[in-house]
Amino acid sequence: MTKPQPFDIEKYLHVVQSFHGYAAPGVIIGGFMVNYAKSKIQEGVLFKAICETPACLPDAIQLLTPCTIGNDRLKIFNFGRYALSLYDKEKGDGFRVFLLPQKIDEKSEIKNWFFKLKSKPEQNTNLLLAQIKEAGEKLCGIHPICVRPEFLKKQKRGEIIICPCCREAYPAEDGEVCRGCQVESPYIIPDTLENPILEFNALKSHGVY
Ligand code: ZN
Repeated sequence: MTKPQPFDIEKYLHVVQSFHGYAAPGVIIGGFMVNYAKSKIQEGVLFKAICETPACLPDAIQLLTPCTIGNDRLKIFNFGRYALSLYDKEKGDGFRVFLLPQKIDEKSEIKNWFFKLKSKPEQNTNLLLAQIKEAGEKLCGIHPICVRPEFLKKQKRGEIIICPCCREAYPAEDGEVCRGCQVESPYIIPDTLENPILEFNALKSHGVY
């Protein structure tokens, strides 16, 4: 096991500000959580991360470990829990760190923030950050985990083909059109642009596809 690294919170605060945009309480508390999990991983082990919320915590993982969404070593499962796991990429064993509500002081600003008892403008940000720095990993629980074998398997990428709807490339195994065209699109396409989706639907209604 690696020696628990002293967590340089001031240096971390600085990095969070430039990466996340501001010293968000969730990313700060997340820093302690990631550091705690990291201290349990043996030196030299290539590890991956699972994050159980899309809010704030993924940035702490990306800042303090080599696991990022882009290199596929960080997976987000939106369970709505403030928790993360680091685990051996090959064997799947590792540790899960989570926030323990019973360790949060009843009268603290951390409680008001975490349980959304106060709106953001009502929160005392300086007090909140001071309390987080003071409490650190004492707010966390930890337990060993083992990731299911099916999650450890490397996903093979199959054939890439052109979507008849948007005319962009996508994996053939996704179906007759790309996933972007299968689900409700987040975009409003200006009328002045050629609209391949409408064109495809028109062709489909004529039995072309
Ligand atoms: Zn498409």
